Amino acid sequence: MADDRSASMLELKAIDAPTGHYDVAILGGGLAGLTIAIQLKRERPETRVLVTDKRTEPAPEAAFKVGESSVEIGAYYYREMIGMRDHLERYQQRKLGLRFFMPAGDNSDITKRVEFCTPGHLDAFTHQIDRGRFENELFRRARKAGADAFRGWRVQDVSLGSDTHTILMSQEGEECIATARWVVDASGRANIMRRKLGVGEGVDTGHHCNAAWIRLAGGLDFEDWTDDEEWLGRMPEKGLRIHSTSHLIQPGYWLWLIQLESGPISIGVCADPRFHPWEEISSFDAWMDWMKRNEPQLHAALEDRRADVLDFLRVQDYSYGSTRFFSGADRWTLVGEAGAFLDALYSPGSDFIAFSNTFSCELIERELDGEDVTELADFYNDFYLALFNTTAHLYRDNFQLFGNPQVMVAKFVFDSSTYFSGIGNAWCHGKMRKPEDIRRLGEVLRPAIEMLPRMQELFRDWNAIENTPFEGVSVLPKTLAPYIQAQADMAHPASDDEVFENSRKNVEYLKALAVWIFHRAARNLPDPPDENRGINPLAISLHPERWEADGLYSDDGITLAQALEALPGIEEMDLEKRGAVVAAQA
Ligand SMILES: Cc1cc2nc3c(=O)[nH]c(=O)nc-3n(C[C@H](O)[C@H](O)[C@H](O)COP(=O)(O)OP(=O)(O)OC[C@H]3O[C@@H](n4cnc5c(N)ncnc54)[C@H](O)[C@@H]3O)c2cc1C
Repeated sequence: MADDRSASMLELKAIDAPTGHYDVAILGGGLAGLTIAIQLKRERPETRVLVTDKRTEPAPEAAFKVGESSVEIGAYYYREMIGMRDHLERYQQRKLGLRFFMPAGDNSDITKRVEFCTPGHLDAFTHQIDRGRFENELFRRARKAGADAFRGWRVQDVSLGSDTHTILMSQEGEECIATARWVVDASGRANIMRRKLGVGEGVDTGHHCNAAWIRLAGGLDFEDWTDDEEWLGRMPEKGLRIHSTSHLIQPGYWLWLIQLESGPISIGVCADPRFHPWEEISSFDAWMDWMKRNEPQLHAALEDRRADVLDFLRVQDYSYGSTRFFSGADRWTLVGEAGAFLDALYSPGSDFIAFSNTFSCELIERELDGEDVTELADFYNDFYLALFNTTAHLYRDNFQLFGNPQVMVAKFVFDSSTYFSGIGNAWCHGKMRKPEDIRRLGEVLRPAIEMLPRMQELFRDWNAIENTPFEGVSVLPKTLAPYIQAQADMAHPASDDEVFENSRKNVEYLKALAVWIFHRAARNLPDPPDENRGINPLAISLHPERWEADGLYSDDGITLAQALEALPGIEEMDLEKRGAVVAAQA
């Protein structure tokens, strides 16, 4: 009897082990690994997919990993391309856009802090996601879709073969082997293949920041910090603000507050160590002391609730990159954090999962159908690197700007408008996958891509010459029609040509916005530019000595009057004109 029982246990173990041959072996079943497993099965059902994660149990709710906020591209990917719309609408939060609170005095009164926020729910959906709840459901759906999804098997090694790759896994001292034609590394920061292949060597993103965060049971609503009716009344109703991904910012750091549908709230800091050393946030007690000095209102709200703190996690120097993400010749790809990570401000993590997973699917599906994808992999590699490097401009050497309300209002509007108008619009219409669409998009977006780094330089230069301590207004770009329209374009159905036409039209909006920001910033120069002359938006800077050589003034350029005409509602962004109070400086 005893022998029989152990035989059937062994049998069960054998069935439960990830052995056999697959078309694709996915290393790691987190967000990226489980979603690409589902995507492959949805797009090419006959594909034999293995996905294995070292974690043995289902994930706990709330206090699990990090990365709870999605923006439009990632949300579209999960909702429409992975089929999670029903789950997201029922079991996760709909997000009320982004919300930022700039510093004011010692930050002891949130109502004084200049607030930049989304006026209300815009047309394109975004969500705040309880990662444990989401990954458990993804695991269930990956299995239901026909993928062999395993828990508790840790990938020990991978050997790449000319025809077939071999994956060695282990569980509690037992080993097993599976083979696969393709390997997709989705192991997150374990970076299995990145390390093995050496594709991260020598890569420096130039962005070196640290993060530490908690999950707090029972949530926390910062509107409870005040009974100022005027401030509360700036939103259509009380209790709405907390549904945004909210940020408290100051020079050198940004702090997130993300309420989860399951009840807890995620609270974390991303800090540049040149302003806020790692030691000041790297233990819970230090983190709380730091909070007391920098965010006293939040500290006061947390101090009495230490018993509600569910976890404390941290990561040092969180940004890294790779030189290669996709190999057609050797049949491997790196997806999600297995390949690279920049920063979590604006929550692009899920966007990069969407891109890397989708390009991987395109390569794998075509190759399994008999196509040589060597060149296509090079194309995607170049494009993905370009996306990554362009996005890096938003963060690198920019954390000092977080102390400057006017510069930050301009930066938020410009950065988010660029995102909506360009890749957001294309992605949400399925026009960022096929090489021919990507090339066409590149042509349309060329001016925006050129402007992006130039504008970040302008923000830094502007911050150096004007840092007025504005207080006391909320900026809701609700009358800035092209901004609202650019967000809506992502959600509204459009023909192929309309998609590109909308992006082209939105690039014109971005040019006008750049010219308006330029004039606003250049007011601070001893000899401001001539508002009646056309400005070439691709040549703007706050360096008058460069203007002539750069071709700033141009007959084809945009005058201030023309920019204002193209930007109805832009006055709302000008804090001085909005009547923001200038606090006395110490
Ligand atoms: C501070 C911070 C804040 C962030 N905030 C956001 C945000 O708001 N929004 C956003 O979109 N993104 C955010 N991100 C990024 C987000 O965390 C990542 O995009 C996301 O977690 C990446 O998912 P992944 O599947 O690539 O990695 P993971 O979710 O880490 O999954 C990797 C999986 O691989 C498994 N694994 C590891 N090694 C092995 C092995 N040897 N064998 C088998 N399995 C293995 C692990 O158990 C894990 O489940 C943030 C990141 C940081 C650092």
